[in-house]
Amino acid sequence: MLLQDRIALVTGAGSGIGLAVAKAYAREGATVLLLGRDQSKLETAFDAITAAGGSASIAPVDLENELGAVPQLVKGVHERYGKLDILVNNAGQLGVMTPLAAYDPVKWEQVMRVNLTAPFFLTRELMPLLAQSDNAAVINVVSTVAFAGRAYWGAYAASKAALANLTETWAGELQKTAIRMNTVNPGGTATAMRAAAFPGEDPESIPSAEQIAPVFLYLASEHSKERGQHLKARDWMDWRAP
Ligand code: NDP
Repeated sequence: MLLQDRIALVTGAGSGIGLAVAKAYAREGATVLLLGRDQSKLETAFDAITAAGGSASIAPVDLENELGAVPQLVKGVHERYGKLDILVNNAGQLGVMTPLAAYDPVKWEQVMRVNLTAPFFLTRELMPLLAQSDNAAVINVVSTVAFAGRAYWGAYAASKAALANLTETWAGELQKTAIRMNTVNPGGTATAMRAAAFPGEDPESIPSAEQIAPVFLYLASEHSKERGQHLKARDWMDWRAP
């Protein structure tokens, strides 16, 4: 299997794209740590993965308010597995769709914490464990608005642009290591967040979270050599391991 003996941590793994990626990784033999803020969603994901023969554990952490719990999480991963091979910073919040002039500063801070500060802090804390892997992949989930701002997308667009930039910076600093860092832009994908952003859209008219998962398999695998690159999930929907 593609990810045999690999240890993966996926944030926002209780629903949407994170859940689909976690399931895809488990199907390929990885042990998947499911991080999210809603314990019941994580338990449902855990049950689905283990019922299908996969290996998983859950890590309930609210990335907005509980970053102080991360060192304890890292200690647990260290004691149990001794390394981390794959980190997917997927959890995200849309915030509000409103003109910047009317953007609530509290909401701004919330979006920035979940979409930007949490991936930075989590990745930094997990770096010693990623360094124990012979081929580690950090995948930061961004958005089309990361590369071109769009009216009314406020904190979400700014946070994703910063995350894409951070990825380039960090990938450069990791050039001589076995840790590759890249981004994935899912493109419009039928999830709760997409429905909130585009309430009139027929979810059947865009790919499902399962359909866009192959790019996450590719980047996590030994086949990927990219560093600091921005991959569009749409371009990789047909990718299968050679
Ligand atoms: P969902 O809303 O379905 O999933 C977002 C996930 O993030 C949920 O599991 C959610 O948990 C979790 N999350 C939110 N806030 C926190 C928090 N404070 N602490 C921990 N976890 C949290 O949306 P998607 O699956 O669509 O989004 C996944 C990623 O893909 C996001 O980064 C998003 O920006 C990005 N993206 C999505 C696109 C799309 O079309 N769907 C397009 C471009 C980018 P909970 O279930 O408890 O809310």
